[in-house]
Amino acid sequence: MRSQVRTQVKPTWKTVVISVFALFLFGSANPDPYPDDYFESPLGIPLLLSGSFAEMRSNHFHGGIDIKTQGHAGFPVYAAADGWISRIVVSPSGYGNALYISHPNGFMTVYAHLDRFAEPVASYIKDLQYEQESFAVQSFPDRDQFKVSQREQIAWSGNSGSSAGPHLHFEIRDERTAQPVNPALWGFDIPDTTPPRVYRFKVYAKGPTSMIRLRDKVSGGWRTVGPGEDAFVELIRQNGGIVMQRVDRIQAAGPIAFGVQTHDFHEGSNNLLGQYKIDLTVDGSTLFRSVLERFSFDETRYLNAHVDYAERRASGRWVQRGHVLPGNPLPMYESTNNGILDVQAGRTYELDYWVEDVFGNRAGFSFDVEGIPGNIPEPDPPPAAYVMHHDQPFTWRGSEYTFRAPAGTLYDDIVFDFGTFAPPAGSRPAYSQRIRIHSPEVPVHNRYQLSIHAPSLPPELRDKATLGLVSSRGTVSWAGGTWEGGSVTSSLRTFGDFIVTTDTEGPSIRPLNISPGKDMSRTGEIRFRIRDNFSGIASYRGTINGEWVLFEHDAKYSLIRHRFDGSLARGSHELRMEVTDNKGNTSVRTIPFVR
Ligand SMILES: [Zn+2]
Repeated sequence: MRSQVRTQVKPTWKTVVISVFALFLFGSANPDPYPDDYFESPLGIPLLLSGSFAEMRSNHFHGGIDIKTQGHAGFPVYAAADGWISRIVVSPSGYGNALYISHPNGFMTVYAHLDRFAEPVASYIKDLQYEQESFAVQSFPDRDQFKVSQREQIAWSGNSGSSAGPHLHFEIRDERTAQPVNPALWGFDIPDTTPPRVYRFKVYAKGPTSMIRLRDKVSGGWRTVGPGEDAFVELIRQNGGIVMQRVDRIQAAGPIAFGVQTHDFHEGSNNLLGQYKIDLTVDGSTLFRSVLERFSFDETRYLNAHVDYAERRASGRWVQRGHVLPGNPLPMYESTNNGILDVQAGRTYELDYWVEDVFGNRAGFSFDVEGIPGNIPEPDPPPAAYVMHHDQPFTWRGSEYTFRAPAGTLYDDIVFDFGTFAPPAGSRPAYSQRIRIHSPEVPVHNRYQLSIHAPSLPPELRDKATLGLVSSRGTVSWAGGTWEGGSVTSSLRTFGDFIVTTDTEGPSIRPLNISPGKDMSRTGEIRFRIRDNFSGIASYRGTINGEWVLFEHDAKYSLIRHRFDGSLARGSHELRMEVTDNKGNTSVRTIPFVR
């Protein structure tokens, strides 16, 4: 039903003439860069999505689309077009089992979280794993090695790697730029006439003397938002449009900005998807616009600048900024004054916010901002030594630590906050004070270095020393690092509270279906759960009678398993499993069995 959505603005004669002219000019010279008939669906089932392109994920934009597989693994996966397999990856996390196919048109398709590969790739990879004595392998075959035809089966769909349930992750990449492009632009048969939903928008008082006032429709009372603060305005659907729910007037003084929370949907899937375009205009001209057509993997972490990171941490809501932070170089925007509206007293501004999905379904709302005189005095500037600029390196030396950040650590300038506190009481040993490095609400882009002095660390524990990140509840998680010259130093991508601690315990190895002397004749596999309590598992090695055997690793379930393949002679055997964590602590289990 489109009736819930405000009707689209009628094109003027000017835009019609320009469009026709553009079509005439570029229509034949520049063919569609994403032709509808080049790629076929990689699955033989209807295309229902659980994830959309450039959707917001933790620290990254989603690189492809996630196609639902009816809740289970094992659907045949087909080559989307003729080409050759140019990369094969097996990994306990990330994409799990993944295939990359290069096509003659200069694009590459990617198929991830596969259950298993079809032949001849399956045997080729198993040989490689035994040759390298490693479950995790990667291969870049020659162009002639594994040619595939469109619709040829290449694998079975699965749930391998960092997958939250069975599905096929499918990508299309431009090989010239290595950029993933939006697969939905290539004419796949995805039913979608449903417009996005917009839930609420946010107003930000950006300047040091900015303010915003919001009037409550019911009580008539005004709420004031001061410099550096922000506030939500809730939206509801009403009379075929989208309107503000509680607020009926917005006044402002000085520079302000906006953000919006939205999700897209399509028929047959109840999953929350991402939109394609966001358009914010003021008095009819563009203030901010974003289009999620393609991005670069080396820029994917700028997702943290694209969204309101602090809001995501606090409430779990993904609010997309309608303004561009100073340290955000993503090329997907078009804006005036980076989306900042400098509100002048006595003027009224008409704003239109439109959200559009990749198939052109749109939803939008409008509101006015009345300019009023500001009454907030200019604050004293913060001491220059505490100001950390987004585009300059910054060093801070405390008596017990050194903090060194390169340019580009931040998206926006901050007044650096720091402090020293007593370490948390708890199970984990602490060999330093608890050092506060600003706040985890501020996103970190480039890694900074933190060195914390550890004079009380016994020399025999130097190899085992690491930094630990202390949560607000006092629990400690691994933050990496090594001891050198009296300090423990780590490269970090999050702000927060840190201590020096140690990891001296080896991983746990729990046999799930094997015990000493057991007859394993009726079992097809050996399974273990392997876990580490702090620094994480770095490697494992399983042998039978001293020979390396393949144990597949599924990191999300902490599961490793060896499938018997008939190469073992009948009789008594000895299984040995060795697991090492990231601080070099090793655990070993040796189990004799019969088969
Ligand atoms: Zn995915």
